[in-house]
Amino acid sequence: MPLAATETYKNYIGGKWVQSKEGRTFEDRNPANRDDIIGIFPKSSKEDVDAAVQAARKAFHSWRLTPAPIRAEILFKAGQMLMQKKEEFAKLMTREMGKVLKEARGDVQEAIDLIFYAAGEGRRLFGQTTPSELPDKFAMSVRTPVGVCGLITPWNFPMAIPMWKMAPALVCGNTIVFKPASDTPLCAAKLVEVLVEAGLPDGVLNLIHGSGEEAGMAVLNHPDIQLISFTGSAQVGKEVALKSAEKFKRVSLELGGKNCILVMDDANLDLAVDGAVWGAFGTSGQRCTASSRLIVHKKVVKDYTEKLLERTKKLRLGDGLLPTTDVGPVINETRMKKIHEYVEIGKKEAKLLTGGSPFNEGDLAKGNFYSPTLFGDVKPSAVIAQEEIFGPVTAIIPVENMEEAFHAANQVRYGLSSSIYTQDVNKAFKAMRELETGIVYINSSTIGAEVHLPFGGTKDTGNGHREAGQTMLDTYTEWKTIYVDYSGKLQKAQGID
Ligand code: NAD
Repeated sequence: MPLAATETYKNYIGGKWVQSKEGRTFEDRNPANRDDIIGIFPKSSKEDVDAAVQAARKAFHSWRLTPAPIRAEILFKAGQMLMQKKEEFAKLMTREMGKVLKEARGDVQEAIDLIFYAAGEGRRLFGQTTPSELPDKFAMSVRTPVGVCGLITPWNFPMAIPMWKMAPALVCGNTIVFKPASDTPLCAAKLVEVLVEAGLPDGVLNLIHGSGEEAGMAVLNHPDIQLISFTGSAQVGKEVALKSAEKFKRVSLELGGKNCILVMDDANLDLAVDGAVWGAFGTSGQRCTASSRLIVHKKVVKDYTEKLLERTKKLRLGDGLLPTTDVGPVINETRMKKIHEYVEIGKKEAKLLTGGSPFNEGDLAKGNFYSPTLFGDVKPSAVIAQEEIFGPVTAIIPVENMEEAFHAANQVRYGLSSSIYTQDVNKAFKAMRELETGIVYINSSTIGAEVHLPFGGTKDTGNGHREAGQTMLDTYTEWKTIYVDYSGKLQKAQGID
């Protein structure tokens, strides 16, 4: 396939596409073919971030006063435009970050679903009215915007995750400085183009490209950003929380996962194999909800392992744009090395059943391909069963019974997603109660979130916030409680005379 011409892209600040102040740039490359340069993007500094924050601050004065249903109209329009562009955007997403085309379509669709869901809030944003304890007095609470939001996002859902943050922030009346991952700047630029074209006033949404250490850090440190919404690794998330605490910023963190599928002795094994293949190897295992642990009852572990091994060996690596590809590349060479380090550790602590190395033969020589990797006989305490690998690697952990399965499932620092395959309703309900994750699936894989339900995790996966669902509004609004006394006299609460 001929390579497309390399374009140069800009930041978007105060309603204008502008170069970074220092003129530095970085390249965005296709992980399936590193020779394919997708674009040249500005490498922004503290000064660029400052310009974006000033634009967002200025725009906040009028955006917060724009009626929410009018703000929502712009989101509805952007949602319709995204529907038109779904195929185009899915293709550029696959080229930019590697996930297979059908999954890239799903990523764009999730952004569309979320923008429509958030736009619907323009005519809700419900508060409460409640009786007062005093006569001739009225009591209510209303949601108000927080201010300028700094949104920092990862590359693995390059349209869905930014939209999970942008759409609720905007409908609630906030303005934005958006710093996307430097591996997926094009997806970010395309989303911003759509929102701008749909009619967002200048300064309401500002886009700053660049590295986490420089541009991301400048967002964290900026005194005029009131809220940080961050999705990424736990390691960086901790730094985000500490830096933000110094300035009392509101912080929402969505971090890593070490998700598990429990396969009980009464499970439909074929269904549980389908769930593992999709959960472990979809998006090349680079999902926060990836099924990286398969906790299997000893009575069925032999059968289950055989079936899963057969399916794993059949998976075809390749460019995600080709219909023959099951598993695309991983995001970059640094990530690939990290995955391989974990696999080398795994080879010492468990049994490697298939995969176990990068794949760089023939057409795939110029891409970051890693063979789908399956380990058997893994102990719950093994490094590969404890740490987030974020690649096409999964581990079968045999257990004696359901209690041991719950114990193994919960014995990790993360708490994002879990699933159980069982035909027994009693076991299913016990799992719903016992699994310490923010999301639990019954007879379905660890992935498949829908935007109208809360999304997020417990323990080191976050700090208690939830994206999507009605809970998204809690991140992007402050509650204001209002009392209206129409008695014409001084009335005191708590029965004070
Ligand atoms: P990452 O933490 O390396 O980077 C995330 C973002 O933070 C990027 O935009 C990056 O540029 C920026 N960043 C990096 N260092 C920074 C710093 N010092 N200050 C400010 N910003 C900084 O994560 P990643 O590799 O892009 O994404 C993978 C991780 O994201 C995985 O751990 C995955 O589980 C997690 N993730 C979580 C969810 C969720 O909802 N829980 C969803 C998707 C991904």
